[in-house]
Amino acid sequence: MIPGCILRNTIYERRYTISSFVVRRSSFVGCFLFAVLLYGCQCQLHKDNRVLMGTFVEVASADKRAPEIVFAEIRRIEALLSKYKPESEISRLNKTGKIQASPETFYVIKKAKEFWQASGGAFDITVGPLVDLWGFTEKKYRLPDKESIAAALKLVGSDKIILNEENYMIEFKTQGMKVDLGAIAKGYVLDCASAKLKESGIKSCLINLGGQVYALGQKSARPWKMAIRDSRGKGFKKYLELEDKSIATSGDYEQYFIRAGSRYAHILDPKTGYPAESGIVSVTVSAPSGLIADALSTAIFVLGKEKGSVLAKEFPGTKIEDISENNDARQQ
Ligand code: ADP
Ligand code: MG
Repeated sequence: MIPGCILRNTIYERRYTISSFVVRRSSFVGCFLFAVLLYGCQCQLHKDNRVLMGTFVEVASADKRAPEIVFAEIRRIEALLSKYKPESEISRLNKTGKIQASPETFYVIKKAKEFWQASGGAFDITVGPLVDLWGFTEKKYRLPDKESIAAALKLVGSDKIILNEENYMIEFKTQGMKVDLGAIAKGYVLDCASAKLKESGIKSCLINLGGQVYALGQKSARPWKMAIRDSRGKGFKKYLELEDKSIATSGDYEQYFIRAGSRYAHILDPKTGYPAESGIVSVTVSAPSGLIADALSTAIFVLGKEKGSVLAKEFPGTKIEDISENNDARQQ
């Protein structure tokens, strides 16, 4: 029924072959991301990288076809979902308030709406006007006044997205609404890219898309190994072994600005209109689906550790791999 690389939202079955990796956060083109460093057995991996979706993409696989397959799939989906591409379906939706979407765009919006519901509104792609207002879209940061925040908040709420399953129409209830898929699109892309690899018979690959990782299969009969680097300090906090899993991190140290000694980061609380103040500095989630890892890490960042842990339990196969807190919410 659904074409493209739309994926059902749960567990995928995969075969593995593999190698070892370390994951590190570093900054690039204005945002933080994981840089994947190979260590140990490199086993003739073919590695390539590109800048796509406004971020750094690295692919490593024993199969030399893998990088191009991944890059092509990222470009294809970016053309649908990027709010920075004027011709994308999302840009057209944001401009006109109504589109007949492709089944894929429809699917991602529908999943986002499900996350909105599941997270009690903490995850909400309609934060678009707030993201613009705080200057995160253009990376021209500003501290908005209360009136502007109140006005933008009137445009927020995924209940105001009307979805028609029969003809894939997406419509906003309120004029001026905007969706921002920054917290879910990368995860979906990873799922699609890994599905394309499997279609081509590639069973082992590691994709790092701006800090979110998908580890397809294994290499040398061992899981991919990665390390989570400390967000504030130096060194590694935790080592992970991944097969057919994605890891996503949401943190307050990727995109943020400091005003009068306070830190304002890019994940917003749709209830207040201000950057989330759950006390979480960084949360890393693993999941069998990139889309779920991506959306979940953002939702947990907004909800905080306690409520976030409850939410994570609703998604089979997911795990909070790491969580750092700082109770001084606007700490630097
Ligand atoms: P990143 O993709 O930058 O590593 P996230 O996956 O956590 O980090 O996504 C953050 C992005 O999601 C923000 O830059 C913004 O575009 C969007 N966003 C901000 N707040 C929310 C929210 N509460 N729900 C959904 N999306 C959000
Ligand atoms: Mg996310």
